[in-house]
Amino acid sequence: MYLKYQSPLSCDVLVIGGGGASLWAALKAKEMGADVVLASKSKVGLSNNTYIAGGLIAVAGMVGQKDSVDLYLKDTITGGRFLNDRKLVVRMAEEAKTLVSPMEGHGIDFARDETGLQLRRVPGHSHPRHISPSRPRGLNYLYPLKDSARKLGIRLLDKLFITKLYSVGGQIAGASGLTDDGGFQAISAKCIILTTGGYGHVYRRTNNAAGITGDGLALAYGLGAGLMDLEFIQFYPTAMGNTGAQMIFYEFLVAQAGARLINSKGEDVVIKHNLDDPMSITRDRLARAIAIEISRGLDVDGGLLLDLGPVKDEHLRKAGDMIPMKWLTGEKRTILAPTTHFCMGGVMMDDKAETAVPGLFAAGEVCGGLHGANRLAGNALAEVFAMGGLAGRNAALKAADMEKTPQIPPSLLDEEKERLAYNPGGSGRDVRTLTAALKEAMWAGAGVIRDAASLKTALAQIEELKTSRLVCPKDNVCELKKFQEFENMLLLSEMICRSALLRTESRGSHYRTDFPEEDNNWIKNIVVRKDDPGMKIEAVAVG
Ligand SMILES: Cc1cc2nc3c(=O)[nH]c(=O)nc-3n(C[C@H](O)[C@H](O)[C@H](O)COP(=O)(O)OP(=O)(O)OC[C@H]3O[C@@H](n4cnc5c(N)ncnc54)[C@H](O)[C@@H]3O)c2cc1C
Repeated sequence: MYLKYQSPLSCDVLVIGGGGASLWAALKAKEMGADVVLASKSKVGLSNNTYIAGGLIAVAGMVGQKDSVDLYLKDTITGGRFLNDRKLVVRMAEEAKTLVSPMEGHGIDFARDETGLQLRRVPGHSHPRHISPSRPRGLNYLYPLKDSARKLGIRLLDKLFITKLYSVGGQIAGASGLTDDGGFQAISAKCIILTTGGYGHVYRRTNNAAGITGDGLALAYGLGAGLMDLEFIQFYPTAMGNTGAQMIFYEFLVAQAGARLINSKGEDVVIKHNLDDPMSITRDRLARAIAIEISRGLDVDGGLLLDLGPVKDEHLRKAGDMIPMKWLTGEKRTILAPTTHFCMGGVMMDDKAETAVPGLFAAGEVCGGLHGANRLAGNALAEVFAMGGLAGRNAALKAADMEKTPQIPPSLLDEEKERLAYNPGGSGRDVRTLTAALKEAMWAGAGVIRDAASLKTALAQIEELKTSRLVCPKDNVCELKKFQEFENMLLLSEMICRSALLRTESRGSHYRTDFPEEDNNWIKNIVVRKDDPGMKIEAVAVG
């Protein structure tokens, strides 16, 4: 298909993504004096995981409490089953402790009571240290931040799908992408901050926003950055419907208020799997318990029955829009099953938020290292804002030290434009059918419960899909974008399966029925890097 060159842009710092980490990184870089462009494939601030998040931020409420970075580190590393990068966790906690005042300065209104910030304690955390906006939804972060970004003169580019990063002499040089109307846009930049979120959409059941397809990981990998911990995907235990799009907060209903999860024999699964202590009912354990019940044929219509009988109406009313309205008016039972919620794995970076590619920074869910084998509640938004701010400041500092903005060699731009426009023709299965087949293969083979056989089956299906894509038509921009996402999802899926096969144990969110125990020889991270040809996967000591 024909793609039209757009006038090239140039800036100090290019932020790729339009969610929480993106806007906060862009604001912090701008406050340091950098000229900032932010490019997002969705409309900036909309259609991303921050927008639909519950809004809980860990650590930010720690100040003045009987709590400390050491206690938080202990909780987070225990939750992450000892695979977390300690330096990153400490760095993030130190940054997150200072977030409240600057965020309020950008118009975010946190919930308060007579004692000050309203603090919550949630499973896995030993202390109440979570805060949230007064109306607890992620969008209540994004609207004020987007307003501030506009006022401060950050150039916001809506619906620009970045498909390639460029480096010159090993240093980042810029990026290019596809506009909604078939334009090819190049942007030169001294530094880039990747904030493109995770890869939840490689699975059939997910509650992630559309477009969370691992693009940033594929972009960083293409340029030689390492990716880590990809086998660790957090499956949220309780979600409704066929696609698992609507999660139901078990922390609020089951852990706090006594709702029961019942199998087809009428057994209470929380009690059956010894999860009735609030510290033990973490997401990985409950998701695994539910998946085991389903795999043993003890499901009720594909999931477990949520019985809200023991929950007081008063408690339900506090849930607001976290639960369906009908639960307040009579209907008190529904079917729930796990869904793909969060990706612990991601791009490797140091404690300045810079990757192995000089000038390429990363923040938010696109990153790996902080959460180890399992993330605790509230730690994702803490990462988004703490590491987003760090990346923004450090990228601006680095850009300020550089005299000129690098130029992307025109031959590389021509090559990328040709690659995108190339249409092999043919009349094979369309990209949506291929994507659905991939998501199904991943859910069946590399989902909550895996083993060598299921992972190998998924890998064989991935191989088959790699050849099918050659006959996929790419004749309009929408189709072309879907095709780029599909390619990224294929790459990520292969990495997930191969990493999960290599890890011959169970740990955190990674549960293998053929290796059901945690094995101390596996206190290692699995790192994936681009090799020639193919990919190199190795286990390395924890940082
Ligand atoms: C339903 C739900 C509830 C949650 N609740 C909480 C909670 O209460 N507390 C908590 O700590 N965590 C929570 N999480 C997790 C948390 O919301 C996410 O980890 C976090 O919002 C990720 O933010 P981000 O900025 O890294 O990415 P996102 O907010 O997902 O944004 C990624 C952005 O990158 C853009 N993008 C992607 N690819 C490209 C590309 N190729 N080119 C240009 N742009 C691109 C996307 O369009 C999007 O705008 C929740 C998650 C979900 C799904």
